[in-house]
Amino acid sequence: MTQPIFEDRKNQIHVKGGAEPFDMACNRDSLAGAVSQRACVFCGSRVVLYPIADALHLVHGPIGCAAYTWDIRGAVSSGPELHRLSFSTDLRENDVVFGGEQKLYRALCELIDRHEPKAAFVYSTCIVGIIGDDMEAVCRRVEKEKGVPVIPVQSEGFKGNKREGYDAACKAMIRLAGTAPIDDISPLSINLLGDFNLAGEIWVIRDYFERMGVQTVANVTGDGRVGDIRRSHGAALNVVQCSGATLPFARMMEEEYGIPYIRVSYFGIEDMSEALYDVARFFAEKDPGIMERTKKVVSEEIRAIMPRIKELRKDLEGKKAAIYVGGAFKAFSLVKTFRHLGMQTAIVGSQTGTREDYAELEAITDPGTIIVDDSNPLELQAFIKEKDVDIFVGGVKERPIAYKLGVGFCDHNHERKECLEGFVGMVNFAEEVHRTVMSPVWRFVPRRTAGKKASLESNNIDSACSLGAPEECMKEGAI
Ligand code: SF4
Repeated sequence: MTQPIFEDRKNQIHVKGGAEPFDMACNRDSLAGAVSQRACVFCGSRVVLYPIADALHLVHGPIGCAAYTWDIRGAVSSGPELHRLSFSTDLRENDVVFGGEQKLYRALCELIDRHEPKAAFVYSTCIVGIIGDDMEAVCRRVEKEKGVPVIPVQSEGFKGNKREGYDAACKAMIRLAGTAPIDDISPLSINLLGDFNLAGEIWVIRDYFERMGVQTVANVTGDGRVGDIRRSHGAALNVVQCSGATLPFARMMEEEYGIPYIRVSYFGIEDMSEALYDVARFFAEKDPGIMERTKKVVSEEIRAIMPRIKELRKDLEGKKAAIYVGGAFKAFSLVKTFRHLGMQTAIVGSQTGTREDYAELEAITDPGTIIVDDSNPLELQAFIKEKDVDIFVGGVKERPIAYKLGVGFCDHNHERKECLEGFVGMVNFAEEVHRTVMSPVWRFVPRRTAGKKASLESNNIDSACSLGAPEECMKEGAI
């Protein structure tokens, strides 16, 4: 039985098949004092726009905001790397009293002269929202003087949650779309939305589409380029990954340019295949051969990875996983992927899921699974102990929770350095899960003490010693 730790949050937690009917609340302001795992509005906008590699990203605010989001996505670029530099106007007490507009103007002029970016994004933080600097006016002035798009991102941290940051980022990006020629774009063309090119993942996905005969016009925003986004309105279809980050951009493109969108996921065998088939179905009338080419890509890729997946599954069968990620779409794929590996999802949650997302999670998980919205460390810790999971999949803020509890951890977020998308990503993920779950180190953590003691006393001492366990570990009470 899962008891809520904070009474106010009880309808943001649901146990599948439990006594309560499904009626989850979501997209609420985080409970004050509960130390949410969720990021602020500014962070939400920054993670979406940051991978645009030839743009200048200037944080208008105190240095702490810039430090919080610096390099938060390990978004790789195939060319310019301006996005890897973190710029801030470093607002101080004086600026709070007298305003920071002059400082912003000077910083923008200096940075544009020095780095010659293709565009500049200026992010508003909490303090800018409080002192009321007119960022729009400063950006307009600099844009006129320097001749490059200078776009304010209205992302004051306090004005909502991370999801509103996505909206702010998309509103900024749509100002670029529709501003460059589109004559040479193929009728079989897409924009890739919601992929941030962690560990080069977008290159893997673009390759699949190329083999299908589909042109990618703009990466929004992994390995992104201002010039591509400016002509993104020429694509025939927007392919949106993940549940939240770039969906507002797709909706705006639909409204303004009539470009339809589909939602996909590139994680796991089923979702990756389905993403390719969805695109093939969309273009089937224009190009009847596309379905055959897609089948070929999918079958070649699956044939290459299945032997290894089957091998890893033998050890992983019956193990339990906890998932806490930013977007719920990623959570859907992870639940299915763990099932492929013979594992069960015991806990699943997200920072920004919608009611529909949680209903979908309710439908695809097993009875007893805890589903949670906008969680916090206390809850996650209690759920992990209750379910006694073998691995926790999350991001940078979840890692210490897992390790402190003596649970294996897999980074499936901005900071990871491993490609987890596509068919190749499925093997990488399975190998990482296997390495982590099967590590002998977990036998020596307090969480496993009871079971461990029993097994050591029976027959396991030799094998533990052969794994290099220190003498102290074997003493009574030390584990
Ligand atoms: S909540 Fe405000 S002060 Fe904190 S990082 Fe976000 S914008 Fe900066």
